[in-house]
Amino acid sequence: MRATVVETSLSGVRVEHLTKAFDGRVVVDHIAFEVGAGELCVLLGPSGCGKSTTLRLIAGLEEPNFGRILIDDADVVAMPPKDRRISMVFQSYALFPHLDVAENIVFGLKVRGVPKAERADRLMRVVALTGLSDYLDRKPSQLSGGQRQRVALARAIVGEQPICLMDEPLSNLDAQLRGEMRLEIRALQQRLGMTMIYVTHDQIEAMTMADRVILMKDGRIEQNGVPADLYERPATMFTARFIGAPA
Ligand code: ADP
Ligand code: MG
Repeated sequence: MRATVVETSLSGVRVEHLTKAFDGRVVVDHIAFEVGAGELCVLLGPSGCGKSTTLRLIAGLEEPNFGRILIDDADVVAMPPKDRRISMVFQSYALFPHLDVAENIVFGLKVRGVPKAERADRLMRVVALTGLSDYLDRKPSQLSGGQRQRVALARAIVGEQPICLMDEPLSNLDAQLRGEMRLEIRALQQRLGMTMIYVTHDQIEAMTMADRVILMKDGRIEQNGVPADLYERPATMFTARFIGAPA
């Protein structure tokens, strides 16, 4: 049985002609793609190619110069971030140092006025899912890197949003932990039926996690396909080199 934390129906995301310039320099250049409901889509590409900006545009943390962002076919460009039904996990998942694990996880719910009993209920569900049951009264400084990352994950899913955006969430962890955590995130995403857009510059991460990989270069989409497509049928030399496939 699927443990649906998401109360609302599944949501897909589509962007059209999405464009963003900083100081006259275009960093996201008329990109278009679609992420199906319940899909895990990886935005992959070298540093500076526009991955984080794309994610921030979808989350509403940046305003596009041009283009549309559709969630369930409704344009959300003018919608405030908090109404977009999106949660986000950043690379630096700053936890509140003075709050314990439980308080960190439900902080956002408290701010939104979710009643205490419901907060406790949701907390118990996400700590079971993220393996944090034994750490609820620890402070972030008393946790390992992997445990802190789980708290950030729990904080993102406790809000029960259908769409989750992750920006290089594992880049501060060592290689072995990264390998474990990417499997955990993938399992959680599938179990909860979340639509996820996951940013990384790590092609192995992309190939092992994604339903769909969108490879970006200089603010544009170089190739968009299932992992095997990019690996076996790279459309360009850039894709072949980046994925590490024989060209
Ligand atoms: P990535 O996440 O793929 O590394 P980013 O989206 O962070 O790339 O950045 C794309 C380009 O936009 C980079 O050249 C970066 O320096 C620039 N950029 C990002 N945010 C800003 C900003 N707020 N102001 C000016 N330039 C920015
Ligand atoms: Mg980035």
